[in-house]
Amino acid sequence: MSTWREMMVASGLPLNEARLLAAHAAGRARSWMLAHDDEEAAKDALDAAHTAFVRRRAGEPVAYILGEREFYSLMFAVTPAVLIPRPETELLVDLVLERLPLHGSLIDIGTGSGAIAVAVAHARPDVEVWACDISMEALAVAQSNSRRHGTGIRFVQSDLLATFTSPALAGKRFDVIVSNPPYIAEGDAHLSTGDLRFEPHAALASGTDGLTLIRRLAAEAPAHLKPAGWLLFEHGYDQGGICHSLLQSMEYKEVFTNIDLAGHPRVCAGRTANLT
Ligand code: GLN
Repeated sequence: MSTWREMMVASGLPLNEARLLAAHAAGRARSWMLAHDDEEAAKDALDAAHTAFVRRRAGEPVAYILGEREFYSLMFAVTPAVLIPRPETELLVDLVLERLPLHGSLIDIGTGSGAIAVAVAHARPDVEVWACDISMEALAVAQSNSRRHGTGIRFVQSDLLATFTSPALAGKRFDVIVSNPPYIAEGDAHLSTGDLRFEPHAALASGTDGLTLIRRLAAEAPAHLKPAGWLLFEHGYDQGGICHSLLQSMEYKEVFTNIDLAGHPRVCAGRTANLT
């Protein structure tokens, strides 16, 4: 028999990862494992932890093994059908929350796990929140996350804004359109490293320069924004200048770029003209 600590050390994984996986296998919180790792583990729990360690050593993301990831202080179910929510995307939520009028409306384009839409709806119950994705599998995950947090989000399947001909959305205009679209260039070496190898390609890559869907989003958004409505989206660390110029070359006003905690330009935004 061995203690949790001995088997976590023997896993060869970074201890914080081994602890998360072991705690999950034991059906305990990470804090419990921190305080009790000198205890001997039951055989079932040890077997489950071993299986998790093997998966992790093969490169599988911790979030997929655990089946969840925290975002904006909420737990989200994640499966390989959706991108794993990233801390830098919390910036996008902050910027959206600052701009949503009371009883306003928002749609999250390419919602994936639903992280952005659920975080906004949870923080702002007054807001009418919609979310769409081209992937039905992703929508099922997002719906489960909406239920988990008691948010009444309306979900629709849509290829960006192109198929907004569904009766529910015909002629619909929003105060805010938000998106964390795929923005990595096809063939970028980054796609064959780390967690990205296991994430849905369609949620990561977008054309030879990574900007195909961002260009479409910028072109399609104004027809679905109210006057003075905001489009905000995440982009790659090296796409700040080009996204800013793109919005400025179109009908967007008050265009700005925001920097993430790592100091990279990460979010670009602009708004449609006012009516007057
Ligand atoms: N930020 C992710 C990464 O580069 C990509 C997410 C996305 O394409 N929207 O790891």
